[in-house]
Amino acid sequence: MPFNLKFLENEIIDQYLYDENPDRPWIIGFSGGKDSTMLLQVVWNALRKLDPILLTRQIYVVCNDTLVENPRIVKFISITLLKIQKAANQQQIPLIVVQTIPKFEDAFWVRLIGKGYPAPNKFYRWCTERLKINPTTRFIQEKVSEKGEVVILLGTRSDESSTRAASIKKHAIYGKRLRKHQLANAYVFAPIKDVTTNELWQYLNQVSPPWSGNHKELVTLYRNANSGDCPLVIDDTTPSCGNSRFGCWVCTVVNKDKSMEGLIENGEEWMAPLMEIRSFLIETRDNPEIYRERKRRDGKIHDRFWGPYKFETRVEILKRILKAQKEIQKSEGIELITHQEMVLIQYHWFRDSFFKTRVSDIYNRIFKTKLDMSKQEEKFKQETDLLKKSCQEEPKDVELIQDLLALQKTKTLMIRKRGLQADIENRIDQFIEEKRNQS
Ligand code: SF4
Repeated sequence: MPFNLKFLENEIIDQYLYDENPDRPWIIGFSGGKDSTMLLQVVWNALRKLDPILLTRQIYVVCNDTLVENPRIVKFISITLLKIQKAANQQQIPLIVVQTIPKFEDAFWVRLIGKGYPAPNKFYRWCTERLKINPTTRFIQEKVSEKGEVVILLGTRSDESSTRAASIKKHAIYGKRLRKHQLANAYVFAPIKDVTTNELWQYLNQVSPPWSGNHKELVTLYRNANSGDCPLVIDDTTPSCGNSRFGCWVCTVVNKDKSMEGLIENGEEWMAPLMEIRSFLIETRDNPEIYRERKRRDGKIHDRFWGPYKFETRVEILKRILKAQKEIQKSEGIELITHQEMVLIQYHWFRDSFFKTRVSDIYNRIFKTKLDMSKQEEKFKQETDLLKKSCQEEPKDVELIQDLLALQKTKTLMIRKRGLQADIENRIDQFIEEKRNQS
């Protein structure tokens, strides 16, 4: 091996065994790409050299699913994660695989089709924080509040780009393996930071993963998708999000999705309808005079800024997604939009006083089925009417109360209600702040 693998493994063992805080768990950011795969593999192989009795520090392998990931990659990662968990149990590695997702209220389609957010561009990239940073941050904070501190292991490497190299250098403290993360009581450990891209591929080609199989599929995916990596994004300095890497298939931050194009050219033709939806999203974003409201949500008209998508645009996008879903569901078994997202979209349509067309009607027409959302629809409609009547004197309060209800509904859909109180408090704080700024 061109780099000193033994040295690397010893560093990891040393940090694992002799860390000044024996309780803080390790959180390994795993995206299924080459960097995090190498990271996990090196850590695993290092720990395998120890007697299992010494493996007392808990390790979490965290993988975030934005719910709009490239479906081809999702398939590959889901299988890999199952293998990882199974092999860890068999080999007595204290490792738990965790998949994080955004709150449904923040899901891409709920924001875009439900609330009318325009497809993102580099100036208005509303999605990264909601889809990528927040879900992982919530998990990290949960562990910090349980254990006091955590160490986050990242597959960041200086060789990735000069920006990355500069960032690693800036944050490194000479003689220290860990650096402070911007989240309180979280530290970052980047063991493979000095491994070059060539060395990384050489390693993956020569060493099979400890969770069985080999890296052939990973190598093929990279080759077919002409792609780089989309690492786990844990803060807004991560450069690759929206940069034509493995990532959200809906991403309009870049003009061309080279990885999706590459996959289609190399035999994944079933992805062509997704490509068309993406192109339509770019069209809606770039032609606001056709697809967006003149008035913004606050009722004001601004010379340069447009309001949310028109209702017809939202309906059209939903139709296109469901048609594509119907086309690929049978052969690929892929769901592009979930039932929970559709329920919340309906909720927002009522909230915006769109009563003519319902999500369930669109769905039923396309799938020729009888999806019944009438109970939820009736409840949402009554709730909206009642709220508007009760807040006649303070119409601004309608928005706050509806946001709080949406948060509560999100939690209901997720079954788990953990964090609801904090979310509500945050929204109230934001409302007070807005009022203060206005006065
Ligand atoms: S990959 Fe694109 S769509 Fe996904 S979060 Fe990043 S910027 Fe947004």
